[in-house]
Amino acid sequence: ISMNDPMEEHRICVCVRKRPLNKQATELHKKECDVITVPSKCVLLVHEPKLKVDLTKYLETQAFRFDFSFDETASNEVVYRFTARPLVQTIFEGGKATCFAYGQTGSGKTHTMGGDFSGKTQNVSKGIYAFASRDVFLLQSQPRYRNQDLEVYVTFFEIYNGKVFDLLNKKAKLRVLEDGKQQVQVVGLQERQVSCAEDVIRMIEMGSACRTSGQTFANSSSSRSHACFQILLRRRGKLHGKFSLVDLAGNERGADTSSADRQTRMEGAEINKSLLALKVEHYINGIQNKSHTPFRESKLTQVLRDSFIGANSRTCMIAMISPGMSSCEYTLNTLRYADRVKEL
Ligand code: ADP
Ligand code: MG
Repeated sequence: ISMNDPMEEHRICVCVRKRPLNKQATELHKKECDVITVPSKCVLLVHEPKLKVDLTKYLETQAFRFDFSFDETASNEVVYRFTARPLVQTIFEGGKATCFAYGQTGSGKTHTMGGDFSGKTQNVSKGIYAFASRDVFLLQSQPRYRNQDLEVYVTFFEIYNGKVFDLLNKKAKLRVLEDGKQQVQVVGLQERQVSCAEDVIRMIEMGSACRTSGQTFANSSSSRSHACFQILLRRRGKLHGKFSLVDLAGNERGADTSSADRQTRMEGAEINKSLLALKVEHYINGIQNKSHTPFRESKLTQVLRDSFIGANSRTCMIAMISPGMSSCEYTLNTLRYADRVKEL
């Protein structure tokens, strides 16, 4: 695709990140096999254990190709550099940018977006929220933008069970209103003005602590909620650009047919559907420049809709995967989904 292709800026950049085997998932304890290899910077292989009819074991290798594939040695900073960083410029040019972390619970979404929490406390300065904020201040101070009167604000909210909660205001439940022109407003959402990277770190810490505790593997509601951290640029009050960084709910339930919990399954299906709906809307708006909603909209889709409409919007999706053999099925689900997003 050439640089001037009008579809190029509407294309979603789709990347995949493999985390290391870890203790939390008892993968190391159980001496689980790592079934993922990353032979080159775009390709990722899944070596799925299978049984022949005569019961001999073999590995079936499936290959996936993405814009980037990160193996377990890639740091959050490296992942950031190739995914969200190219989108920071977009908001200075008056556009909307969105970066999603997608994947099974425990695959590394929050680690990547919110920061490493393998220590006692979460190190929020080492996540994509913080890196993106740092670069926003960096760009703001450059000669090109220095005299543009741009002010930086952040918001941080959670969507759980179709409801919006403000993570910068003691989880206050918020209403979402739409005007006649389909403009969406989250009523009362706290927008905190920030003037340096340290200010932002404090906001991320505050919001993360407010999020349903750090538990990842249990049935904690954090695995069923989307978290959205936004960086807004305003000029004399008027919105100039917006960067939404979304830590999506775990995608495993949509595929979990064994689950008897119908409600939970429906939520999972809705997450998958709405993500695809986002992509479809994005695509259709790109060519036809009119609104079209192929699915009933989820709260997430509704709140982020304005980020997908309009010429200057860019999106990036990072599919997170666990390397263990026991996660193989979920991993393949995630990769197939990412594949569809890429090709739409
Ligand atoms: P999710 O948000 O997708 O449910 P988490 O981000 O909570 O998953 O990650 C699960 C566990 O794995 C956490 O303890 C986290 O610190 C660890 N982890 C995730 N990704 C990595 C990584 N790339 N390197 C090291 N540890 C990681
Ligand atoms: Mg998480």
